[in-house]
Amino acid sequence: MVRVLKERRTGNEKAFTMPNECPVCNETVIRPPGEAIRRCVNINCPAQIKGRIEHFASKRAMDIDGLGEKLVEQMVDRGVINDVSDLYYLKKETISCLERMADKSAQNIIDAINTSKRRSLSRFIYALGIRNVGEHISGLISERFADLNGLMSATEEELINIPEVGPEVSSSIVTFFNDSKGYGFIKDSETSESIFVHVNNITEEIKENNVVSFEVEMGQKGPSAIQVKVVR
Ligand SMILES: [Zn+2]
Repeated sequence: MVRVLKERRTGNEKAFTMPNECPVCNETVIRPPGEAIRRCVNINCPAQIKGRIEHFASKRAMDIDGLGEKLVEQMVDRGVINDVSDLYYLKKETISCLERMADKSAQNIIDAINTSKRRSLSRFIYALGIRNVGEHISGLISERFADLNGLMSATEEELINIPEVGPEVSSSIVTFFNDSKGYGFIKDSETSESIFVHVNNITEEIKENNVVSFEVEMGQKGPSAIQVKVVR
């Protein structure tokens, strides 16, 4: 707000009150300590899901060309995607079934998603949308850790030692990875194909498919893979 237009006031304005419930998912909103704005903290809130995916795909993040607000909205509403990791499982046929999506534009989206696998660790950290972690901080953090695995297992104390990283930032990062168990690319050692997943899903896979070890390999060169060794 730049200036309050007092001369425009009629005396009938209602005082603006922050809603107690999220207008989209109806969950109770909370005001985090020290913050002026109430937030919906429901991780499954459709508005938040859309926001996270839009941010992830945005130009300065993973730069997924063609994946804009309208398309994300349609995909989430139709249940095609629910999380950024779902993007990497999309099939051209699924996209071309959506409204205003020709075969060629669907292929362009798939190509853009595949290209995004080569973004730097810094962009990837920024794209995750961790609270208090903007582009600048993402850059500083990515210089400190050799790969995503290092960041995911970092303690608040380790993070605070990074210049310009304060307690809010370090706490946000640790909370984020504790909640989501992180994201990463897995690489099947047989097919050599990189797949984007939640790391907590990998843990499930470890149980189900007897994966004996995995290693996050998302270094400075960009997100490459988590090596998954499967005992068959
Ligand atoms: Zn909500």
